Amino acid sequence: MKEIYLDNAATTAVIPEALSAAENAMQVCYGNAGSVHDKGRQAGALLNECRKTVAAAMGVDSGCVTFTSGGTESINTALRGAAFKNKHLGKHIITSAVEHDATLNTLRALEQDGFEVTVIAPEKDGSVSLEKIVSAIREDTILMSLMGVCNETGAFLPYAEAAAELKKRNSKALFHLDAVQLFCKAEMDLKNVDFCSVSAHKIGALKGSGALYIKKGLVIRPLIYGGGQESGMRSGTEAIPQIAAFAAAAKKRSEALSESIAHYGKLKKLLLDTIKASGVYFEFNTPENSSGHIVNISPCKLRSEVLIRILSDKGIYVSGGSACARGKKSHVLSAMKVSPKNIDAALRVSFCPETSDADVLAFCDAFAKL
Ligand code: PLP
Repeated sequence: MKEIYLDNAATTAVIPEALSAAENAMQVCYGNAGSVHDKGRQAGALLNECRKTVAAAMGVDSGCVTFTSGGTESINTALRGAAFKNKHLGKHIITSAVEHDATLNTLRALEQDGFEVTVIAPEKDGSVSLEKIVSAIREDTILMSLMGVCNETGAFLPYAEAAAELKKRNSKALFHLDAVQLFCKAEMDLKNVDFCSVSAHKIGALKGSGALYIKKGLVIRPLIYGGGQESGMRSGTEAIPQIAAFAAAAKKRSEALSESIAHYGKLKKLLLDTIKASGVYFEFNTPENSSGHIVNISPCKLRSEVLIRILSDKGIYVSGGSACARGKKSHVLSAMKVSPKNIDAALRVSFCPETSDADVLAFCDAFAKL
């Protein structure tokens, strides 16, 4: 049975380039990057190369990139670091209700520390209104955090415009971009962005690796203290195999970004046209302005849990929403005021550059039969 993996927003298969980079780091460059002997220097040189590669893929200076254990750690570091850095200026933070739990729960924890968080609700179609974000900005707003692409619906958030408006109104306020579903999947604009979180396992590399971009000159408190690795921003012996795999995947995916964007657009159209043509009734949970790699639909009759299991028995893997939610009702679809029945029925189909038309058609066929 051919396996058809359409859950790439949850995580991706490791691409061959990433695998061989990890193998090389494990078997050849296995030294500790902090050691002074040749094996250590070799690992240190590889680490430097990887930093340059990931920075180039993000379009930033390599000195601004800190390697972390993934998106969640990057987000925690940025939000806690920024909030405490700016504490003397105010206590108000803005985010949206469609953010990943890594953001929402970090901000909930900051509320316990005395910060005040305004959470902007999405529109019914899953988009987030720029006007609503901008009108929430106050004199004491010190931080804003938005995602580039929503991991559940694929919606593009107006982060670049929101960041520009924030800076216009309050030049000392800081902006964090959760680019976990944006990096190497759609164009990224970091002009007014102070912090940007990315994750390796969403782009064909290993789990347990990610990066945080911190704008040049910005100094925040780290989350993890220890031996002072990563210029003191993230202590702990660097996970060179994961980092090497991350760099290899970032290079490949960023170089092929335009092709990937076009490919995702075609796959999304094929999926929606084919399901429509098969006469199955479904509702969209994906707004017009969304990335091609994530589609969220509710075929109103069957619960997604049932659909996912039956499709899984056929070797077709999709999800019901965020993989991290593990069966909890989607906070994103709830915030969009999708009916409880349609929340229960929601299916998220997500692509990677290797997804083929045949994969999409096989899903559509199985889906229509069900
Ligand atoms: N942010 C978004 C938008 C995500 O989709 C995810 C993972 O699903 C994360 C953050 C967390 O990233 P990681 O799994 O690398 O911790």
